Amino acid sequence: MSTLKIAVQKSGRLSEKSLQLLEECGIKISNGERKLKAVAQNFPIEILFLRDDDIPQYVEQGVADIGILGENEVWEKDKEISIIQQLGFAGCRMSLAIPKDEVYTDLNYFEGKRIATSYPKILIDFFARNSINVFIEEISGSVEIATSIGLADAVFDIVSTGSTLLMNGLKEVATVTKSEAVLISNPNLTPENQAILDKLLFRMQSVREGKQNKYILLNAPNAAIERICSLLPGMKSPTILPLVNKDWSSLHSVIQEDDYWEIIEQLKNLGAEGILIIPIEKMIR
Ligand code: ATP
Ligand code: MG
Repeated sequence: MSTLKIAVQKSGRLSEKSLQLLEECGIKISNGERKLKAVAQNFPIEILFLRDDDIPQYVEQGVADIGILGENEVWEKDKEISIIQQLGFAGCRMSLAIPKDEVYTDLNYFEGKRIATSYPKILIDFFARNSINVFIEEISGSVEIATSIGLADAVFDIVSTGSTLLMNGLKEVATVTKSEAVLISNPNLTPENQAILDKLLFRMQSVREGKQNKYILLNAPNAAIERICSLLPGMKSPTILPLVNKDWSSLHSVIQEDDYWEIIEQLKNLGAEGILIIPIEKMIR
């Protein structure tokens, strides 16, 4: 039987969330001591633990079929792979920063400047699009100290809160792009592996929809049921159950996480009582 190989980051900012995502999809992985490889017990998938920089290459070559990593690495490595899903975690921006006492005008500030980065390709493309000439100092880590040690005039790096920049006497002056974790795939999967991937994608979708929706139960006076139903369309339509008190009913439905505070206000105004909002673990339409 065929097994789908997924590459995830061995240790770093993406590791925990990547494994959590697989676990939420019901995939059980026993890998206490983080070996290089692990096989799921109840799903035809094998997990390869790698450095995130290497994942695009391994997926291109088919050593791994799919992988989870930051879009920033996907763009930088520029391999023949497909992004198949945004995953909504490890969000960050890729920004240019300069010493905090410098006066920044606009992008032309960078003309002729030396910029240190671990993402030369993304940076070269960006300045080429803006017709600005810069010198790039490629380094593989600790980019934020590059200006203070005299390696460069500015830095280009990943930023989430900006505190690392601040601590190193830098200020963020321009955002080049935003990035988050994505699921990538080799573009030529075998039909068997494509079928396993489709199963996995279906599960991911159920988890995502579950997170984006809430189950709602409430008691409503019968006279208000019609108006309440119009606020709670549910997956098909709400379920209405009679209460012992003949003038009241219990109503069950599903609402979107984003609008439930708004809707609850309106439900209360219509006379709803005993409103319960319950998380949904998985949702299949
Ligand atoms: P590896 O040893 O696997 O190469 P790394 O040091 O390159 O690890 P991490 O720092 O663990 O990588 O970051 C992995 C990814 O997490 C980044 O490529 C980026 O997509 C995302 N990320 C989110 N926020 C941040 C942040 N504040 N700093 C760095 N990366 C971040
Ligand atoms: Mg890396």
